[in-house]
Formats: sequence, C-alpha cells, structure tokens
Amino acid sequence: MSELQERYQDVLEKMAQAAQRVGRQPEDVTLVAVTKTWPLEVLLAAYDAGMRHFGENRPEELAAKRPALEAELGADNGIVWHFIGTVQSRKSSLIADYADVFHALDRMKIANRLAQQLGENGRFLPVLLEVNVSGEGSKSGFSAVAWETDATQQAELRTVAETINNLAGLQLGGLMTMAPWDAPEAEIRQVFRRTRELAQWLETAVPGTNLAQLSMGMTDDYQIAIEEGATHVRVGRALFGSRY
Ligand SMILES: *Cc1c(COP(=O)(O)O)cnc(C)c1O
Repeated sequence: MSELQERYQDVLEKMAQAAQRVGRQPEDVTLVAVTKTWPLEVLLAAYDAGMRHFGENRPEELAAKRPALEAELGADNGIVWHFIGTVQSRKSSLIADYADVFHALDRMKIANRLAQQLGENGRFLPVLLEVNVSGEGSKSGFSAVAWETDATQQAELRTVAETINNLAGLQLGGLMTMAPWDAPEAEIRQVFRRTRELAQWLETAVPGTNLAQLSMGMTDDYQIAIEEGATHVRVGRALFGSRY
C-alpha cells in the first residue's frame, strides 16, 4: 500500500470507530478529502486510492482542477466537488459553474448572486449555511454565538433559512461550522453539539427546511465531530500531510 492509501484507510477506520462509539452507521458520514493547494498528481493518486469527494477552498483552483481531472478521467468520473472556503462576491460565478456542494454560504449577498448565476447556467447547487457558534472574531459565518437565547440572532437565522429556501437553484441542506483552533476538547465538542442543536431548532422554526447535513470536523477534530453528529468531515492534513 502507498503511504496515501495507508493514511486513507487509517482515517476511514477512525471515522468508523467514532461513528460506532455513538451508535451511528459509518456510511452516514462522508469524508471530504481536502485537496486544496495539492497538484493534480495528488488528486489522481487520491482518486486511485478510492476517494471521490474532493474539497477546495479557492475558486480559481476549483475552476482549474475540475476540468483538468475531467480531461484525465472523463466527465463521468464520479467525483463530487465540495467548495469549503469563503467566497468573495466577484468570484461567485466560479462556484456556480464548478462546485457540486457549497459548504460555506456565509452571507445573503453571495446567496443572491449564486441564485442569479445558477439561473443563467441552469445548474443546481446544494448549499450549507456556515454558522459561527464559537464567537471567535476570525471565523466567518452567520452569527449564532448565542442562538439559544438571543431573539435577534434567532430571527436573523430564521430569515436566512426562509429566504434561501425561496431562491431557485440553491438547495439548503444543512449547516457547516469550524471549531476554535487549539481549544480544549470539551469546548470543541460543545461547538459541534450546539451546531447540531441549532440545525434541529431551525428545522422546527422554519417548516419545510431540511438541515440534515452537518459539515463539521477537520484533521484535528473530525472524530469528535462525528461523535456529535457530523455527516461530512473535511480532512486535509491527515490524508495528504502538511501543506506548509
Ligand atoms: C483546509 C480546510 C480544512 C482541512 O483542514 P485540515 O486541518 O488540513 O484537515 C477543512 N475545512 C476548511 C474550511 C478548510 O479551509
């Protein structure tokens, strides 16, 4: 086995163990292999190892890599392209054209632009709302720091869900969050748990909303995230090594 195959098997095993610890099915959690910054050869090796969900965080990189892999592997290659980064509004058309799932919808301006661009290109885009429940200033996302008690935040989140539900082309499917970097495990776990609870509350508060997908967890915390309900983990370094 190659080193990449070994790392892949190791991550899959840890994911399955985390799921089993809390009585979940391993197949209910999708591994998004975060291929950002890695060249095409690495993506091809990941594909050969069996990975089919790739995560990118720069629009230009997605727009270059997707066609390049389609040229190598054919358009029917089975790859699902996840865009996991913040999008500047002038780059949103690249997401509308090249992403299969957008994890980091963090403001209405982007939602509106995407809806218009999807109307033009005829595509359909599942999206997850990025929420900031930890309150870290550096984190993007709709503010949900005090969603359990803050009526203003609740009203804002409800309005966002309602508005996106009514935008053609976008399909709201869940929430995405990032845990504070280097925080104690209890604090990280709490962020994931509160995100799951927020999804449940928002589904009830806005009838017709489906937020079954929870994109939470990276190399350092994906096992905790799975224990707390993640359906998608976004893992880079544990698969490919350090990018820096
Ligand atoms: C880079 C990145 C990841 C993966 O991080 P690793 O620590 O390499 O696993 C996950 N999510 C987002 C939003 C990222 O930008």
